[in-house]
Amino acid sequence: MAETFLNYIAGRWVPARSGRTFFNTNPATGELLGEYPSSGPEDVAAAVEAARSAYRGWRNTPAPKRAEIVYRAGELIRARKEELARAMTREMGKILIETRGDVQEGIDMAYLAAGEGRRMYGVTTPSEMPDKWAMSVRAPIGVAGVITPWNFPFAIPSWKLMPALVAGNTAVFKPAGDTPEMAWHFTKIFEEAGLPKGVLNLVFGSGSQVGDPIVRHPDVQVISFTGSTEVGLAIAGKGGALGKRISLEMGGKNAILVMDDADLALATDAIAWSAFGTTGQRCTACSRVLVHEKVHDALAERLAARAKTLRLGDGLDPATEVGPLVNRGQVEKVAHYVEIGRGEGALVAGGAVASEGALAKGHFFRPTVFADVAPQARVAVEEIFGPVLALVKVESLEQAIEINNASSYGLSSSIFTADVNRAFRAMRDLDTGIVYVNHGTTGAETHLPFGGTRGTGNGHREAGHTMLDPFTEWKSIYVDFSGHLQRAQIDNN
Ligand code: NAP
Ligand code: MG
Repeated sequence: MAETFLNYIAGRWVPARSGRTFFNTNPATGELLGEYPSSGPEDVAAAVEAARSAYRGWRNTPAPKRAEIVYRAGELIRARKEELARAMTREMGKILIETRGDVQEGIDMAYLAAGEGRRMYGVTTPSEMPDKWAMSVRAPIGVAGVITPWNFPFAIPSWKLMPALVAGNTAVFKPAGDTPEMAWHFTKIFEEAGLPKGVLNLVFGSGSQVGDPIVRHPDVQVISFTGSTEVGLAIAGKGGALGKRISLEMGGKNAILVMDDADLALATDAIAWSAFGTTGQRCTACSRVLVHEKVHDALAERLAARAKTLRLGDGLDPATEVGPLVNRGQVEKVAHYVEIGRGEGALVAGGAVASEGALAKGHFFRPTVFADVAPQARVAVEEIFGPVLALVKVESLEQAIEINNASSYGLSSSIFTADVNRAFRAMRDLDTGIVYVNHGTTGAETHLPFGGTRGTGNGHREAGHTMLDPFTEWKSIYVDFSGHLQRAQIDNN
């Protein structure tokens, strides 16, 4: 019997009103992990109502007090880090070092966001009138709808919900169907940390039955979404038409540029980690290498050799280097792209499902490398979200930057070079939200803004010093202490 989990609405753990449920499974073993409410619009309506009623009390709770609860949550996460990491590996497959890192981002974000509760700076400025005070302050927006993907099932909810709550918003949280357990732990920890009832509400269920009703609900004022570009843009259309604030983090096709003066051993380590870590399922994963023609063949050889040695298996086994894909659908998608890639480049490693021994029970795919792929080839342009890497030959830094910037996505990019002039030109000209020098495309730190350009985002940045921006409105306040009518300058001319 799988353990049963419930929604959290108005501070109570409740089933879906319909009584319907769905199951969570382990992608490495097929093991059944838990049974969750398959909620619908009526559950969303109850959660939004709870968040709306809790809003008045929460927005008037002093920000440093709100932040103390987030800090306490951080302490609880830290105490449970290993337990949470193991549960995450069971739930979505990535290896323990990676799930520990995912939980650590939650801890880092809790401490960082808690600090914002004692800053949340506004701006004071002189008035153009005598005896008049002028300032602008951040104000919360209201009820935030938070919709998250499965690949960072603890970190991404942390990046969104911690700043939203510190800022004084209340929230309705819909996690990905593949990772309900992490969302349950996240919410339970906030309950234990003393969050008042109704401030955070958790509703499990599908994108169409829970996500869409959140986006359309008139009492949800801001939507924060991370996931695919397709779903994100649909949300932007619906929510935008209703006048909502919509913050989107979407797909990526992140490139590493390797120049002819690069340290190839270092580049190989970094590319292998960026491309095959988390089985290629990071939003910042490297899926194309734009490599100088002089070193293309040497790099292809090194990467193929590395890809072949990576050990696949259950992420709970410390010897495993690459875990499973998250579900059967992802295996099919990756296999489909690999078939396309066979016609577009030279397959030098991988290219097939891995199913020997215990791997047969899970969703495993061999780390795959295509060499000599044209810049416009589908495997070099479309997001695959799996362990598939395409090498594209370039003649110069300028050409590499041009190819990088022609992508419809713009999350992360990186350059390997020993030439400081090239490095600075790349930092200036690569059109992505994140740029690395002599480091792979993954490994963002929570105290820097996170997000992408073009098809990856719509102008918002999470985390960093920008963390409150998606979740606050600026309010300008004037106080006239002259005791008589003073017209503003524009009315006095
Ligand atoms: P997804 O299919 O777009 O799902 C993301 C979330 O949206 C899930 O909670 C999903 O629910 C929900 N959803 C689906 N349809 C919806 C609808 N019509 N209305 C409202 N919500 C809906 O993405 P995914 O497959 O989980 O995640 C992989 C994608 O996320 C990749 O494209 C990756 O690049 C991107 N990603 C981006 C970042 C970033 O920061 N830029 C970070 C991580 C991931 P269900 O799970 O129930 O379908
Ligand atoms: Mg699962």
